[in-house]
Amino acid sequence: MELINDNRCSWINDLNSRSNIKSLSSNLNCEWLIIGAGYTGLSAARKLGQLYPNKKIIIVDAQLAGEGASSRNSGYLVDTTLNDGFTSNKELENYKKKTDIYKLGIEAVKRFIKEHQVDCDWNECGKYFASSKEEDKKILENFSQTLSKLGFKHNILSNKDLTQRLGTNFYTIALHTKGGILLHPGKLVRAMIDTLPENVELYENSQLLNWNNLNNYINCNFKNGSIKTKKVIFATNGFLKSLGIKINYNFPITLTASMTRSLTDDEFKSIGEPKEWGVLPVKPMGATIRMTNDRRILIRNTAEVHNPFLMPKSVLEKRSIKQKIGIKRRFPQLPDDIIQSTWSGIVSRTRNSSQIFEKLNENIYVAGCYNGSGIGVGTLFGEQIAIKASNENTGEIEIIEARKKATWLPPQPFLDLGIKTRLIYERLKARSEI
Ligand SMILES: Cc1cc2nc3c(=O)[nH]c(=O)nc-3n(C[C@H](O)[C@H](O)[C@H](O)COP(=O)(O)OP(=O)(O)OC[C@H]3O[C@@H](n4cnc5c(N)ncnc54)[C@H](O)[C@@H]3O)c2cc1C
Repeated sequence: MELINDNRCSWINDLNSRSNIKSLSSNLNCEWLIIGAGYTGLSAARKLGQLYPNKKIIIVDAQLAGEGASSRNSGYLVDTTLNDGFTSNKELENYKKKTDIYKLGIEAVKRFIKEHQVDCDWNECGKYFASSKEEDKKILENFSQTLSKLGFKHNILSNKDLTQRLGTNFYTIALHTKGGILLHPGKLVRAMIDTLPENVELYENSQLLNWNNLNNYINCNFKNGSIKTKKVIFATNGFLKSLGIKINYNFPITLTASMTRSLTDDEFKSIGEPKEWGVLPVKPMGATIRMTNDRRILIRNTAEVHNPFLMPKSVLEKRSIKQKIGIKRRFPQLPDDIIQSTWSGIVSRTRNSSQIFEKLNENIYVAGCYNGSGIGVGTLFGEQIAIKASNENTGEIEIIEARKKATWLPPQPFLDLGIKTRLIYERLKARSEI
């Protein structure tokens, strides 16, 4: 099936259009092939380009590079999370392993940004885990204990402080973590494309249709050509399963988000002129909502099992209505028609919220499944899977591999049924937070 994306993502539409876009139109050979040009694939390509300046490295994407989830996300570079989609890591030891990876992820992005002087609206303002329900105080107090044990600076805030800081009195209680960065995801991934090493060739709008592993090489077939490679790294995240990779360990989930236009001076005044902020929900299916540095409001409040290759315009418009309601609930004084764009994006999930970072066989590697932490973890995993595929080891790889592996998922139709039931249940629990 052909991957077709909407062209309605504000983060992408903020950027200049690119020139020099090449598609695959012949049969090629290379030493290294990377499938998927999001944070993971681009970071893998950058690392391989540095490690092997004289080898031929190719990276291919089904759409324009970086224009999948890597541009379509909410822009939270996280140091901690309360929920992983609809599961939580409750044991302290497990939680620590997860945050150790987040820390490395933040460092990887910081290194990249510093080295290439990237402007991606980086703001170290931390983030809020917020709820409109007083009863969620208990969850935040437990979370606070976990964060204290691990040394994460944070504080709990009540409605009065939140109203002042966020410009909405919707939230009753929140936990603010000092760590965590808000950024422009489109600008970040664009910088990863623009700074690819010279020995990396990028082919776009070239979807991998099928592949086979022959004795000493892997043959990959695209619509208008093929690539014969010695080693391949799969970095297609939500599309791993559709390529037959780790099919019993990951599944795609479709998210949708909307962004408003910039608020006018009067509108901004009416909500108290807050500084940039980002709120994540206490209940997993609640809304993620952000005030950007240029006074736009972003909201993401859906997560569903859907065909990852295409979300038709009519379906997207229905999601947009949900997002309009979400904004209205929080900012009733703002006009009804301020949403400028609505888009969908695909994330990949595992049952136990572990990521995938693996050698599938001598020449085939895969990294993915970060749920809502792919900005940092994807950048880190891309670099480190390139090193692992070079048969080297690092302290980072040891930390990544110390986490539990993804657990087995039941086959279809039981899988879809189970996920859908769980999502309905979580959505009901979070209905006040959408
Ligand atoms: C609405 C939304 C909000 C999110 N919010 C956050 C957030 O705030 N913070 C955070 O850290 N993460 C967030 N995420 C998750 C984050 O965006 C992902 O984890 C991250 O983009 C994963 O990067 P990736 O490079 O592994 O995958 P992707 O960015 O999905 O890149 C994979 C690429 O593979 C390509 N591809 C797929 N199939 C093929 C094929 N057959 N042939 C060739 N190419 C193919 C795709 O076109 C795509 O470009 C969010 C995601 C969404 C959708």
